[in-house]
Amino acid sequence: MPQQPAQVIATYSQRMRVRMADRSEAEARIKGKRLRPVCGDFVELEPIANEDEWLITAIQDRRNVLARPNMRGQTEILASNIELLLAVSAPSPKPDWFVVDRYLAAAGIIGVPAAVVFNKTDLDDELADAASYLDEYEAAGYPVLRCSAETGAGIAAIGAEIGEQVAIVVGQSGVGKSSIINELMGGEALRTAEISTKSGEGRHTTVNSVMLDLPGGGHVIDSPGVRDYAPALDSPADVIHGFREIETAGHECRFANCRHLQEPGCAVKAAVDEGSISARRYESYRRLLRLTEELDSKSRS
Ligand code: GDP
Ligand code: ZN
Repeated sequence: MPQQPAQVIATYSQRMRVRMADRSEAEARIKGKRLRPVCGDFVELEPIANEDEWLITAIQDRRNVLARPNMRGQTEILASNIELLLAVSAPSPKPDWFVVDRYLAAAGIIGVPAAVVFNKTDLDDELADAASYLDEYEAAGYPVLRCSAETGAGIAAIGAEIGEQVAIVVGQSGVGKSSIINELMGGEALRTAEISTKSGEGRHTTVNSVMLDLPGGGHVIDSPGVRDYAPALDSPADVIHGFREIETAGHECRFANCRHLQEPGCAVKAAVDEGSISARRYESYRRLLRLTEELDSKSRS
């Protein structure tokens, strides 16, 4: 039987929607119980005799995964093969910049480029508060995209940043993620992806996760699990990869294993003192390092 490479573009409880190499789409089910495909996965398919559905027989190696601990403390993979993370905040609800740092850190740790999106720029009264934080992200090397899903300002620039890549949009509830995705899709209402399944689990199964196609050729993965994503940071040693400006400055520290806390000859502390690294971002690094160390020692005890 011929094998077909395809990409998972939506996951339902037991079924997947896949996109074939020729861009056509089909439904697929999973062979066996051990395979756990997620949105973004490239999979191998086999036809099923006398059925329209395909069988997913294997998952190709993932370039990266967005994962988080689930209720039972196991790591749950939410999506894979991501090329850009957009961390959205807005003047309202009041931004928690530490959370924004954590999103950016999560992207850095899995090796995915990230950008900061600041939405609701039409609410100009509250903009001034955020300006200095946004400047810090720019200084740290992250693209900062200001937009308003309400007026449409800046949306095209987000589309341009995504290009033809697969992007993930994250951020606290209410910042305007769905509104931005809607605008990126040309104002078309978010596809409420529902499929009717002919057998088994009832007539309708709600979607868990879906990859939406943008007019510009890019894609956005939208998933309830991803939206308020709290990154799984299991190794304190990885935290440094989440703060690009600190990681870069750290190459000049006297000790190769410098953690940039109290060590002598620390180039990071020197940069913070002279103001070229934001004291707030440095504090955020220390906080995330401490948090990760606590979780790490708990999981070992
Ligand atoms: P999500 O929870 O991040 O997906 O946020 P939503 O897209 O559901 O938006 C939350 C609320 O913010 C809704 O009432 C939107 O109408 C509103 N909103 C979204 N974008 C903007 C914007 O650019 N400006 C203003 N003023 N309100 C916005
Ligand atoms: Zn150091």
